[in-house]
Amino acid sequence: MHDDGRYDEPRVTGPDGVSTTDSVSRETDHPGDPVASPSDCAPTVRRDVPAVGGAASPTGHPGQEPAAFTGQESTGGPDHGAEPAEPAGGRGEAPTRPVNAPGSRPVQPRRNAAASARFEPATAVVAVPPQPTVRSVPDATIAGAAPAPVAPYAQPDDPAYVSRETPTREEDDPPLAMEARRAVQVLNPSGEVTMPRPERTRIMCVANQKGGVGKTTTAVNLAVALALHGNRVLVIDLDPQGNASTGLDVPHHTGIPDVYDCLINSVPLAEVAQTVEGIPNLWCVPATIDLAGAEIELVSVVARESRLARAIAAYPGTFDYVFIDCPPSLGLLTVNALVAAQEVLIPIQCEYYALEGLNQLINNINLVRQHLNPALEVSTILLTMYDRRTRLADAVEQDVRNHFGDKVLQAVIPRNVRVSEAPSYGQSVMTYDPGSRGATSYFEAAQEIAERGAKEPVSRHA
Ligand code: ADP
Ligand code: MG
Repeated sequence: MHDDGRYDEPRVTGPDGVSTTDSVSRETDHPGDPVASPSDCAPTVRRDVPAVGGAASPTGHPGQEPAAFTGQESTGGPDHGAEPAEPAGGRGEAPTRPVNAPGSRPVQPRRNAAASARFEPATAVVAVPPQPTVRSVPDATIAGAAPAPVAPYAQPDDPAYVSRETPTREEDDPPLAMEARRAVQVLNPSGEVTMPRPERTRIMCVANQKGGVGKTTTAVNLAVALALHGNRVLVIDLDPQGNASTGLDVPHHTGIPDVYDCLINSVPLAEVAQTVEGIPNLWCVPATIDLAGAEIELVSVVARESRLARAIAAYPGTFDYVFIDCPPSLGLLTVNALVAAQEVLIPIQCEYYALEGLNQLINNINLVRQHLNPALEVSTILLTMYDRRTRLADAVEQDVRNHFGDKVLQAVIPRNVRVSEAPSYGQSVMTYDPGSRGATSYFEAAQEIAERGAKEPVSRHA
C-alpha cells in the first residue's frame, strides 16, 4: 500500500515469470475489468444465478420463467431460459448483489455443452482426473492367470461326434449360386449329349385348338432344350402368325421361302429350313403371312392332308426330333400336322375351360388315326402356365392327371414372366434366362420326353 492509501495493481505472473494480465482466467474476472467484456461475462453470471433466485417455472418447463424475474435479469444472453432452473432457494428470491462482486466467492460455471464451448480456456484449467482405460484383454491372457480348460472334441467314432465341415447340400446354397447352377445345367456349355437320342426320328405335333395355351412356347423351348443337350431338332412353324419363327429369331417376312411353298408349291423342306443362330443342331422352317391362305388353297390340291408328311419324308437330313407348331384350329393345316406326326403333344393351360374343346381334338385325332395315320397317338400332355397360388390350377392338374394318366408329364410349366418376355428378344427362355423357373421347367419336361422316348422304343410308332 502506498502512502496515499492506494494499493499497487495486483500483478499476475505467468509461468515464465513475466508479468501478464492476459493469462488471467476470464471466469474470475471482475465485471469492470476491461479484458472481460460484458458479452463474455453476462451469460456466465446468468447461468449461475437461478440456483439462488428460484427461477423455476411453475411447470418446470424451460423458458417459462415468471415475467417479473426475467425483467430483473436484464443481462440474460441469447440462451436465456434455455435451461431449467435448479430447485433451490425461496420462490421469487432474486439475488441482491452482483455475484462476481469483489469479495464474493468466484462462481464456477456449470458444465454443460454450451458452457463448455464458451469457457474453453477454463476447461483446460480444470484438471480432469485421468480415466482408467478399459481392459479389453481376456483374463486368460493376463500374465499369471490360469488358462480356461478346453473341452476335447468328440472323435468320429464317438456317439457325440458332430461334423464341423460345411454342409454341401444343394438346398443350402445361396439363391444366386443355385440359379447359376441351374443356368449351367440348362445351357450345357460343354455340348455333351445329356438327353438320350431316340433310335428314330420322333415327329411331335404340338396341338390344341384353343389359342394362347402355350403351344408355340412349348414347341420352341422343348426344341431348344433338346438341341442344347445333343439332339438334332427341326421346328416347323405351321401357324400363319409365325410366332415360332419370331421366338427363334428366324426371318419370316413376305418373300422369304416358307412352309407355304412346301405345302402348295412342293418346294423341298431343306430349301426353306434355316439354322437358328446361337443354337447348334437346331433348324426352323418359318411361316410367313402367305400361310394364311393355305387352308383354302389346300382344298383343291391333290393329297391335301398329307402334303407335309411327304415333305418331311423327303427331307434328306436326319433329325432326332421334329416339332410341328400348329395353329389354333382343327383345319387342314392341323390335319396335315396330325398326318405327318407319330405323336401328339397337347399343352393344357391350368385355367378354367382348359378341358373344354379337348374332346373335339381327341375326336379329330381318332379320325386321322382311323383313316390317314394309324401310328398316331397322344403321347404327351404338358400342363402349362401353372399358378401354384390358385386352387384352380391344382384342380385342373388333378382333372388332367385323372383323365390322361401317365401321358401327363411330371414336369409342370409354371406361369413365369421370363417365359413371356423371351420372345420379344427373339429368344427362347432357355437362352434368355436359363436360371429362371420357366427355363428349368422346360428343361425338365424335355428331359422327361427324351427319357420316355429312350425307354419305349420308337419303333412302336412306325
Ligand atoms: P399358343 O401358341 O397356344 O397360342 P403361346 O405359346 O403363343 O400360345 O402363348 C400365349 C401367350 O402366353 C404368349 O404371350 C406367351 O408368351 C405366354 N406364355 C406362354 N407360356 C407361358 C408361361 N409359362 N408363363 C407366362 N407366360 C406364358
Ligand atoms: Mg402359337
